[in-house]
Amino acid sequence: MKNFKQVKSTNQCPYCAGQGYFQLRLGGSETCSCCSGSGKK
Ligand SMILES: [Zn+2]
Repeated sequence: MKNFKQVKSTNQCPYCAGQGYFQLRLGGSETCSCCSGSGKK
């Protein structure tokens, strides 16, 4: 078994914290325009 290291936090989109969308206070969600909803940078 190989020692596989996966870096999680560094490739995340800083704007949506890797979620791919923003949570709106008024309800619903909006797709992050920075990462196009992928959550990655
Ligand atoms: Zn994003």
